[in-house]
Parts: sequence; structure tokens; C-alpha cells
Amino acid sequence: TSAPKPILYVDGVTVTFDGFRALNDLSLVIAPGEMRAIIGPNGAGKTTMMDVITGKTRPDVGTVAFNGDVDLTKLDEAAIAQLGIGRKFQKPTVFESHTVRDNLQLALAGLRKPFTVLFAKETAKERQRIDELLELTKLTESHGRLAGDLSHGQKQWLEIGMLLAQEPALLLVDEPVAGMTDAETAETAELLVEINKTRSVVVVEHDMTFVKALGVKVTVLHEGSVLAEGPLDQVQANERVIEVYLGR
Ligand code: ADP
Repeated sequence: TSAPKPILYVDGVTVTFDGFRALNDLSLVIAPGEMRAIIGPNGAGKTTMMDVITGKTRPDVGTVAFNGDVDLTKLDEAAIAQLGIGRKFQKPTVFESHTVRDNLQLALAGLRKPFTVLFAKETAKERQRIDELLELTKLTESHGRLAGDLSHGQKQWLEIGMLLAQEPALLLVDEPVAGMTDAETAETAELLVEINKTRSVVVVEHDMTFVKALGVKVTVLHEGSVLAEGPLDQVQANERVIEVYLGR
């Protein structure tokens, strides 16, 4: 029996900025349906890794493949998003002067043929999906509020909901709980666990309480390569990881 094709396969990726290796022979394999947490000190290459996966930065050398054999290094950002890779940046970008529901509706309408966006009312199917996304992101009661009036945590959830409207097979999430309260952090972990029931997730995060709550395999990046990989308690006990975090 052969192993299932990885949803994401990164092998031997190097990215150089003015001679400096932001990624250095990086390899990472994400199985279909997996959620992976990526940690590592500042400058480890986490953002550059996300940029390479989403086509924002081209690797000097190396393989980045999606769904087994789709070579992402030849595609631009729009094509990669279209293939089913969604990226949540750290700062939420919602339409602040629109309601929560309208934000989700716009995200769904974005999938339609351009000329139907303006004229067609939302379909029953779209309405149902919006209700599901409101429920998932715990925004049902806030559906009529302006997105600009939401708490920081709620804005992050709304943006995640908007990304899910595009039904990505792989969701990349960059430091989702930065600036959140403890309660919001715990709810965000629950949300990602729920999302991971239907799609693969890669999440970069510094907050170890949050990473622990996810309960998934952790990859530690350092100087552009993988330093350690495994359950959180195991990588936290790894001497090289401890050295890197203590800056010795
Ligand atoms: P992390 O997200 O883990 O903090 P980054 O991927 O942002 O790390 O950065 C990795 C290294 O690459 C850092 O030393 C950073 O200064 C450098 N770097 C990132 N982007 C650029 C760029 N566009 N030009 C020059 N250096 C960069």
C-alpha cells in the first residue's frame, strides 16, 4: 500500500536575500487532513516559508508541490489561491463598514462569475453556507453588526470564515492569536481543530498555550531549516530547541 499523496510537499527549498539564506534546504511534508503547527524564533524563516508556499517568493532551488504533483514554484499567487490554498495573514482585513454577514456574502460572491456578483441575489445555497460559517466562527449573534465594531478576536474569526468561503483544501494561518485574550485564544484553538476536520491546516504561532491546545505535531524552524519535529512536549524537551529559544 502506498502512502497518500501529501497535500504539501516541500523539499530542499533555499531562498536567498542578498546572499543571506532565509530558507536553507527546508523540507516539510504535510499529510492530507493534517494540521501542523510551525514554531521558531524571530528570523527563523516562518514568514518566508509561507511566502514560498503561496507564490509570493520564488525559491532559488527546491520543490514545492501541492496535492501530490502540482508544482507551485511555477505558479503565481492568484493561481495558487485558485488551486485551493488560503492564507490568513496576521492582521485581519475585513470590510469594516459592512456587516459581518455582508463580509461573508462578498467572500462567497467572489467565487461567482464576475457579472453575476452585482445582479444576482444570494442563492439559498449561499445563504445556507453563510449561516454555517457564522455558526462555525461563533458570529451568528453578531451577523448584523459592522465588522469594524467587532473585537479583535472576532475580526480574526470573520476573516477565517471569509477564507473558508473559498473552500481551500489547505489553510495557512499566520499568528492568529497575537493580541487575543486568553478566552479568544482558547476559542481560536477550538475553531482551528473544527476547521481541520474538513481540510489541512498549517499554523505559525508563538503562543505555546495555543499550540498545546491544538494538540498537533509541531515543526521547529531555525535559521531556515527544520530543527526538530514531533509532539510539542517532545520538541520542548529537545536540547537544541531549548538552546535556540534561550539564545545560547
Ligand atoms: P520569521 O517569520 O520566522 O520571523 P522571516 O521569514 O520573516 O522569519 O525572515 C527570515 C530571515 O530572512 C530574517 O533574517 C529576515 O531578516 C530575512 N528576510 C526576510 N525577508 C527578507 C527580504 N525581503 N529581504 C531581505 N531579508 C529578508
